[in-house]
Amino acid sequence: MIKNYTDSLLQFLAGSPCNFFAVDSMRRMLLENGFKELCLADDWQLAPGSGKYFVVKNDSAIFAFTLGSKPMAETGVKVIAAHSDSPCFRIKPNAVIKAENGIIKLNTEVYGGPILYTWFDRPLSVAGRVILRGADALHPVTKLLRIDRPILVIPHLAIHFNRAVNEGNPLSKQKDMLPLLARVTECAEKDNLLIGLIANELGVQVSDILDFDLMLYDCERPCLVGLNNEFISAGRIDDLSMAHAAITAVIEGTDTTATRIAAIFDNEETGSGTKQGAASPVLANILRRVNAATGGSESDFFKAIARSFMVSADNAHAFHPNYSEKYDPTNHPVLGGGPVIKINANCKYMTDAHSAAIFRSLCEEAGVPFQYFVNHSDVAGGSTLGNILTSQIDIEGVDVGNPILAMHSVRELGSAFDHNAMTAVFLHFFS
Ligand code: ZN
Repeated sequence: MIKNYTDSLLQFLAGSPCNFFAVDSMRRMLLENGFKELCLADDWQLAPGSGKYFVVKNDSAIFAFTLGSKPMAETGVKVIAAHSDSPCFRIKPNAVIKAENGIIKLNTEVYGGPILYTWFDRPLSVAGRVILRGADALHPVTKLLRIDRPILVIPHLAIHFNRAVNEGNPLSKQKDMLPLLARVTECAEKDNLLIGLIANELGVQVSDILDFDLMLYDCERPCLVGLNNEFISAGRIDDLSMAHAAITAVIEGTDTTATRIAAIFDNEETGSGTKQGAASPVLANILRRVNAATGGSESDFFKAIARSFMVSADNAHAFHPNYSEKYDPTNHPVLGGGPVIKINANCKYMTDAHSAAIFRSLCEEAGVPFQYFVNHSDVAGGSTLGNILTSQIDIEGVDVGNPILAMHSVRELGSAFDHNAMTAVFLHFFS
């Protein structure tokens, strides 16, 4: 019997409107389960065999690990990787734009590759982090901000002004996609509208706000849909569902022999090229420090890497019943068919026959079905974390994910069964 984590996932998604809140949600889950937070800027005293720790980088990436009783050099490390970010709209500096008759709109910039159309006509709000004045210039203070009510909307242009709207309609990210914030009649209010709102929400002075990383999110809550509640309808399923499964596995996994780590990176949607992204040395450095703090030598580190295995978990495309021509004729995973192993001849995925065989066996041992994804040969696919990570750490691994529809829509569609199945496989890997 596989356990049901669907309610836990829905709660996690609802509490994680953007990458910073996703990491905060994971931090809370870890603290509630006896994990201790380590700081990258401090020395680490680690307890082999029983220690449970996590490290946060840039408030937007999180690495949670448990130490095995045996040295890393002997057992290798078990790694599950996922990402915290999702395509969205970021608020630009000097964002307030005054339009006709007191209508205020916000200037935004697109993050990653969202399906633009899906953001229209929805109650939206703002979440992210705000940077406040601290003791000195080099030590500002960070506060998370989530405005928990709908304050923005991107209204469609009426069909009467655009009769071709249903026939394919190119959208300008700068013109078509700016959200409306308010109608304001007092002139004085306009200039400070956004900063004043942030200050008010946080209970700080306007003059204390130095900067922010704020994103728009859809206020509608995640839910189950389908006659039998078989589908999950929510924003950010890619890749917070895999992050949730990875953190659940590091918390509930029972392997006390080998060191296990759930590595949740940021900025996958923009190519992973930041200090908290998979192309940075952050994971390699953490593993190196864990090895050193548990008495391992430099040579032990290389032995550990050679014996390690990584599951790189990012969502996959499910077969869309209305578009069969887009899919490979023999390898098109379906919603509810179980975890997906991703394969690409040109090595966009890190999967090879050896690593695929290992993941397949993990699925079989966990008692869940598995599927293969290969692109239709005339369709260029996306990329993901696995091979980007191997540029920093030459670890064996497999790219997997659960099948979803409407990837990068403001609301994606996944499967409750698949989430529970993937969590069961991760738990088995970590047990
Ligand atoms: Zn993804």
